[in-house]
Amino acid sequence: MKIDENVLDCIVKEVMNSLEGKSDAGQTGGVFTDVNEAVAAAKKAQRQLFRMTLADRKKITDTIRQDLVGHVEELSRMTVEETKMGRLEDKIQKNRAALLNTPGIEDLPTSVFSGDRGLTLLELSPFGVIGSITPSTNPTETVICNCIGMICAGNSVVFSPHPGAYRVTNYTVQLINKAILKAGGPENLVVTLSEPSLDKSNQLMKHPDIRMLVATGGPGIVKTVLSSGKKAIGAGAGNPPALVDQTADIEKAVKNIVAGCCFDNNLPCTSEKEAIVVDEVFEYFVFNMKNHPETYFLEDPSQIEALRKLVVKDGKPNKDYTGKNAAYILEKIGIQASGKIKLISCVADFNHDFVQLELLMPILPIVRAKDREEALEMGLEAEHGNRHTAICHSKDIDFLSLTAKEMQTTIFVKNAPSFAGIGIGGEGYTTFTIAGPTGEGLTSTKSYCRHRRCTLVDGFNIR
Ligand code: NAD
Repeated sequence: MKIDENVLDCIVKEVMNSLEGKSDAGQTGGVFTDVNEAVAAAKKAQRQLFRMTLADRKKITDTIRQDLVGHVEELSRMTVEETKMGRLEDKIQKNRAALLNTPGIEDLPTSVFSGDRGLTLLELSPFGVIGSITPSTNPTETVICNCIGMICAGNSVVFSPHPGAYRVTNYTVQLINKAILKAGGPENLVVTLSEPSLDKSNQLMKHPDIRMLVATGGPGIVKTVLSSGKKAIGAGAGNPPALVDQTADIEKAVKNIVAGCCFDNNLPCTSEKEAIVVDEVFEYFVFNMKNHPETYFLEDPSQIEALRKLVVKDGKPNKDYTGKNAAYILEKIGIQASGKIKLISCVADFNHDFVQLELLMPILPIVRAKDREEALEMGLEAEHGNRHTAICHSKDIDFLSLTAKEMQTTIFVKNAPSFAGIGIGGEGYTTFTIAGPTGEGLTSTKSYCRHRRCTLVDGFNIR
């Protein structure tokens, strides 16, 4: 019997590793307690990667994609269990999209100047070791898409996981290291911190060998990385409005807004957080929302106030209810709802907490606007200048164009659920690091690169 060379390679590596006391994910599996040791290991790995070829980077990231696809359900289940947030079936979709729809080495374009004085190349080159701070809302998805883009760009990465999601984050890193070693890549190219803390994440951000910081999270961490004095990508909060005008297909708009708003129990920063509907179609929109089989519509003002008191604490979202199922939240205000219910909705004034706060809960307030102009003004105000995501349901091209232009959001979705804007049911690639404040937009391989110029004088111009 002839043994395939790759299989033989794996067997030899496996035997060597076991003789050296390593697991198949390397000696550490990429998990470190000490920040300095983590950065040193990632620095060594980055130098090794940079000496390898682009084809090697592709092989490494292709192997990560292939090997982790078989773990998507396991990772999604572990995330729900550890964070106690979100919906399993939606996390599966998000993880699959992160693995299969994140760009790779093809996203490293070269530009060139050529003329009488020769040839100059503009190339995208790695930063070195990146410090990446990840959220509790999409922990594994963020690790997957960030590490694919960062490795394809030639970097290594040290993740600082959210304390509420570090077990699953670190398990994902171990699986990634196993895949990297299998593909012939360096040990500790992707590392993470066990027992994460604010102290450790601050130590990581200040470490001199960390050349770039990427923060995926709320306003606090984005502000911290932007004040670090290092190159930083800030992917921060949103509060996406869904505007609906009189020309929209109202039945479809309701279906799409419900689907987007309750996706993973509203944890994605891109999910619809409030609907703003023009007066002309307001009643018909509400009628459709009430009749949606997955929506529980609250009409009694005392129940709406009881819900507000439950989910808003000291003027901020009460984290006990972040990403929880609608039926669970309803039960806490004495309402028994069937398991089919995924969303709680009600009519609200524009200034209501449900509209103004980024709740990250399956709760959709519906606001009445007298006309399109007012709807657009309200949308702009409710988005709070985050420039993150907005959605519009309309058949009027002029209104769609005006709204898209005025909202200035990184993602603008027309006549579809918000998740179409991150490549789930819409064209375009996927990322879970959407950098509005620093302008990279939907991050990908090229976001993790330095622009470098390489000039050769008086040669290679053949025109
Ligand atoms: P979070 O801000 O509580 O935590 C994010 C990460 O930052 C965690 O790892 C946390 O430990 C760390 N952190 C927070 N403050 C810190 C500080 N002062 N110093 C050091 N580390 C700090 O966010 P979360 O609750 O996990 O996620 C939800 C928030 O993130 C929402 O606001 C959501 O909109 C946003 N988010 C944005 C994107 C995007 O791509 N723009 C993606 C996911 C989540």
